[in-house]
Amino acid sequence: MLPQMFEVPFSFGIFKRAVDQGLVSLNLYNIRDYTHDKHHIVDDYPYGGGSGMVLKPEPVFESVASIKAGIEDEAVELPVILLTPQGRLFSQQIAQELSLYPHLVLICGHYEGVDERVREHLTTDEISIGDYVLTGGELPAMVVIDAVVRLLPGVLGAEASSLDDSHASGLLEYPQYTRPAVYSGWSVPEVLLSGNHAQIAKWRREQIIQRTLQRRPELLDKANLGIEDKQLVERLTTRQSQFNSDRES
Ligand code: SAH
Repeated sequence: MLPQMFEVPFSFGIFKRAVDQGLVSLNLYNIRDYTHDKHHIVDDYPYGGGSGMVLKPEPVFESVASIKAGIEDEAVELPVILLTPQGRLFSQQIAQELSLYPHLVLICGHYEGVDERVREHLTTDEISIGDYVLTGGELPAMVVIDAVVRLLPGVLGAEASSLDDSHASGLLEYPQYTRPAVYSGWSVPEVLLSGNHAQIAKWRREQIIQRTLQRRPELLDKANLGIEDKQLVERLTTRQSQFNSDRES
């Protein structure tokens, strides 16, 4: 609907470099170009009444058909994803899953949404970027594209850097510091300056567990924790409940 919205975020920085290096390409389609009437009408009143307008099925089906026709390898499975607040909740895991496909088609809704037949007979997947409602699917599509593209091999400078990210392993990342070692009287944790890699790795792992426990305890339930991690969770939980009961008494 509004292809211009995509210009700015994808014309700079990491994404632009990825496009220039041929690691990814982004093709924008305006469903208005798939209408056959003089005024290029893409929406209409909802059957049964009610407020707002609904995107008509024909231009959406026709645009996706023409995209499909342009993809040479017909054998590959092509996800056709509708952005909708009713879809499955987007996550790093879904980003990883989508990053394995050679092509993705993302459909951005507008107004009140899209004729239900698009969902029933055209899309293979529906994604929501969160439990709130936006005016159009462009920002959600950009969120999905950004999260997927940074996982593609070669897109981030150091290959390993996306593996450490929050959520990559199902947990939150450890805190990061850079120079200066002391800023405004606040020092970087001693261990990070020690040059002792084993100690640093241990400290980071503890921070990962501690942060996740404090901020998103439900993530720990799903995570793949080693024995040491589990012991740490137990120690921290006991410490926390002692702290709470000391405060109450
Ligand atoms: N009436 C619809 C919402 C329409 S919002 C409903 O209640 O389900 C208009 C369009 O914005 C949607 O078609 C969708 O493409 C996009 N959109 C809005 N919020 C979104 C979200 N949280 N995630 C993904 N897409 C969203």
